[in-house]
Amino acid sequence: MASDSAPDMRLVRGRLAPSPTGYLHLGNAWSFLLCWLAIRSRGGTVVLRMEDIDPDRSRPEFAEGILRDLAWLGLDWDEGPDVGGPYTPYVQSRRYDRYAAVLERLQQAGHLYPCFCTRRELRALASAPHAGEQGAAYPGTCRQLSDAEREARRGEGRGASLRLHWSGEFLSFHDLLHGDIRLSWEDCGGDFAVQRSDGVVAYQLAVAVDDMDQDISLVVRGDDILHCTPRQVLLHTLLDRPVPEYAHVPLVHDHEGERLAKRHRHFELCVLRDSGVRPEAVVGYLAFRAGLLPEPAPVHPAQLVSGFRLTDIPCSRVVLPEDIVPLLAGL
Ligand code: GLU
Repeated sequence: MASDSAPDMRLVRGRLAPSPTGYLHLGNAWSFLLCWLAIRSRGGTVVLRMEDIDPDRSRPEFAEGILRDLAWLGLDWDEGPDVGGPYTPYVQSRRYDRYAAVLERLQQAGHLYPCFCTRRELRALASAPHAGEQGAAYPGTCRQLSDAEREARRGEGRGASLRLHWSGEFLSFHDLLHGDIRLSWEDCGGDFAVQRSDGVVAYQLAVAVDDMDQDISLVVRGDDILHCTPRQVLLHTLLDRPVPEYAHVPLVHDHEGERLAKRHRHFELCVLRDSGVRPEAVVGYLAFRAGLLPEPAPVHPAQLVSGFRLTDIPCSRVVLPEDIVPLLAGL
């Protein structure tokens, strides 16, 4: 297990990076609380970044609700869409020019190629018998196309996404909770899309570029994203930028073992608030599950900062008891 001490505590910059595709639930509160504590316990700067890169799923009312719910929990930030800061704008949908410039740079360096595979073709690929949890790796079908074949496909009116190719075999990074991670390019999904065929920039690219541009040195997020991290590390490397430290925290599940998701409406913070649950109760319960309190008791996040060590967080998933809502209401 590695130490989470930074060489210069004052320089830590971490981010809360919600996607406004729904309201925050207890699982988001857990990840954001741990992220915030990791940054604040190192005397660092908290950046709030609104990841509304997906125009089909992002909604302004969710973005507003997320800011309100984070503040309700007692988590604050030093830079963000509402308070500004040296790296404004902190909203992905307003950074398209920057992403386009990075795509151009990667293109010029020969890292990208157009991919004409249809969703149907890619779906068929994902249901291949040996597909792992993330689906089968993209086999590089369109990389081999000649210029003439590309022109012919364009002539047929087929839209192209852009994929990044890398010729190395393994990607590695160090995770503060999981230790050294080493994945083959195939396990990472193979050549990955950095831009969809409709022009929407892919999550991987937007996140990595934002982390670079906003000088993020510490990334704390849910371990469902761990398999994406090697691709983001690669982007930092290809663009000659330092790689942040990463920590992927376990996720929260309901009493039946299902991972909390947008459909768990009754675990949304706004729903809990409306049913009389106090923010200190939510924070106190989550702190208990993180091993920061001996038993659930109301607490403000600021009271947990002193002595917090990310590496002390249990690595196993958090399963909520069936009576979690009355339990929270009674705290
Ligand atoms: N915006 C992503 C999400 O809400 C998180 C991305 C990240 O932390 O890198 O799932």
